[in-house]
Amino acid sequence: MGGYNEVKFSKALMGRLSYGEDMLEELTDICRRERIALAQIKAIGAVKRAKLGYYNQAERVYNLFDINKPLEITNLSGNISLKDGVPMIHAHLTLADREGRAFGGHLAPGTIVFACEFIISILDGQTFDREFDEQTGLPLWGEEYWNAYI
Ligand code: ZN
Repeated sequence: MGGYNEVKFSKALMGRLSYGEDMLEELTDICRRERIALAQIKAIGAVKRAKLGYYNQAERVYNLFDINKPLEITNLSGNISLKDGVPMIHAHLTLADREGRAFGGHLAPGTIVFACEFIISILDGQTFDREFDEQTGLPLWGEEYWNAYI
């Protein structure tokens, strides 16, 4: 069942990632070091190569694919919540090549940073711990966390 909570913007962390590092790993390390349980994340920049996921709804698995060339990060957009009590980033990435053609998908390990500027907006409110959702096969936010239902 869908639902939502009221949250408040608290503070933000603004910075850049290291050249040659794995984007998801480095962002996750920051979240764990700072003990971020609830946040919004946005970033722009460029990658040396990318690994993205497409959730195959029929087979209930992520199909991962590689794009082995330098690309612009035209948008990284996502959220941070808990899974098994530790911060987990769920982010989607839109990338563009030299002709401006876009690729997109679920950010997976294996996306390597060329340059990346990020803002993590930390939120105050009810935290969520992801749990297996029977309908989708995905780790989603459970309905016991909602204050209001859709
Ligand atoms: Zn996703």
